[in-house]
Amino acid sequence: MPGNLFIVTAPSGAGKTTLVRGLLARDPQVQLSISFTTRDPRPGERDGREYRFVDVPTFRALRDRGEFLEWAEVHGNYYATSKVWLKEQIAAGRDTLLEIDWQGAQQVRKSFPDAVGVFILPPSLDELESRLRGRGTDSDDVINRRLLGARGEMRHVAEFDYVIINNELQVALEDLVGVVRAARLRYANQHQRHPQYFEFLEQD
Ligand code: 5GP
Repeated sequence: MPGNLFIVTAPSGAGKTTLVRGLLARDPQVQLSISFTTRDPRPGERDGREYRFVDVPTFRALRDRGEFLEWAEVHGNYYATSKVWLKEQIAAGRDTLLEIDWQGAQQVRKSFPDAVGVFILPPSLDELESRLRGRGTDSDDVINRRLLGARGEMRHVAEFDYVIINNELQVALEDLVGVVRAARLRYANQHQRHPQYFEFLEQD
């Protein structure tokens, strides 16, 4: 049975990374896809763990060889999802989560129409700004660019199946865990998981 594919999208500062980490800790059956990026590692980030950090020529070469399922330029850097790896994981039945932007989400839906899209919203734009400044890892210039981008990103919320407003972390985490559990109960999944049950129902 193929794995479920989850796409989690949010403007930066909405708490997406914390929520996804919380989900992975709660549900070890979900694995994270490690994207390629051309941005510099932040303090504490390690190649192969948060991202595969590559330079622009390497990124372009991989892209031109058709290695990416999707790619996008976000805040002046390139990001991409590995095509072969993801297809293998889904075919092997592993539930996999992509933390990607709305442009990537649109491209992934074309190859995986059953992917479950989850959009995480911050409580408000004001709250988003104070979270981004509080993080202290990016310069003012970067933060201002991200705030501008956030509004544009949030306009794509309607393209997603589920919307989680991250007012309170614990509640939002329960919501995300709930979405994953619900996705596993979709008819097509249950039909494949319990074939005899459904064969019995389909008999005259
Ligand atoms: P950050 O640099 O803060 O880790 O991520 C910046 C943005 O890039 C986030 O919106 C994140 O979702 C997006 N992103 C990360 N990896 C990918 C990817 O593989 N593809 C796409 N399209 N976006 C990504």
